[in-house]
Amino acid sequence: MGILYLVPTPIGNLEDITLRALRILKEARLIAAEDTRTTRVLLQHYAISTPLTSYHEHNKLVKLDAIFEALDEGDVALVSDAGTPGISDPGYELIGEAIRRGITVTPLPGASAVITALVASGLPTDAFTFLGFAPRKDKARQALFREYAHARGTLILYESPNRLVDTLEAVIAALGGDRPLVVARELSKLYEEFQRGSASDVLAHFRATAPRGEIVLLIAPAPPVEAVVWTEAEIRAALREQFENGASVRDASSTVAQASGWDRRAVYALALENRNTE
Ligand code: SAM
Repeated sequence: MGILYLVPTPIGNLEDITLRALRILKEARLIAAEDTRTTRVLLQHYAISTPLTSYHEHNKLVKLDAIFEALDEGDVALVSDAGTPGISDPGYELIGEAIRRGITVTPLPGASAVITALVASGLPTDAFTFLGFAPRKDKARQALFREYAHARGTLILYESPNRLVDTLEAVIAALGGDRPLVVARELSKLYEEFQRGSASDVLAHFRATAPRGEIVLLIAPAPPVEAVVWTEAEIRAALREQFENGASVRDASSTVAQASGWDRRAVYALALENRNTE
């Protein structure tokens, strides 16, 4: 039984492929490619003559059997047109089925637009949510942004140049014009560009200069909600209210400590004082 290798290919610059990826592409029995014409250009560049078969969105289910037959005989390398297979590209079903059949799935590290954009965006990298392509309908787009308005970490989407302005408008409608964001364009290519700024500024830029090429949109997380710090006077007032409602010292201090975030013992001490001075 062969191994199913997941082989990332360049997202623009043909040099962005690892030595191991080239070796696996050379040694595999078969390369399953999203678009055989696109992959042939890469293979020709590196003088690789491994047989190719297509595996794309529209034939991925009927192609499964042929790929598993090839895996009976040797290794298969799965590639997409650019970047990492399975990331907004076909691969998911094949990988899932290979795992179910007990086939070894070996991923190779390599290029992916989402990570390439994130690391240079200047936005938080400790936590992020990748949302793939934004929905095409405006209502659905806005609903998506609202759903993730308070998500922890940076939001990342793939976008096409002719929908970018509409998507930025949806970001502003859902999250406000001040939300910092970054548009990463044409990564690793001649006209690589990062537009950083508030959603309104970046929208104004792309209204003036129509976007072109391939795009990753990264949206900063919402600023943390300021914790409301209760003053001592507010704690005493809350305790008084509790007592007026008949609460015991213990219950009143427990309720107020929970609501205020104050230390329970500190609130208890104030509760005793309040009780004694009544
Ligand atoms: N599998 C790929 C990956 O790992 O990044 C993504 C494939 S998805 C069909 C293609 C989308 O990825 C493009 O529409 C664009 O949003 C983004 N993308 C791919 N290459 C890019 C590049 N060089 N610069 C910016 N975005 C890119």
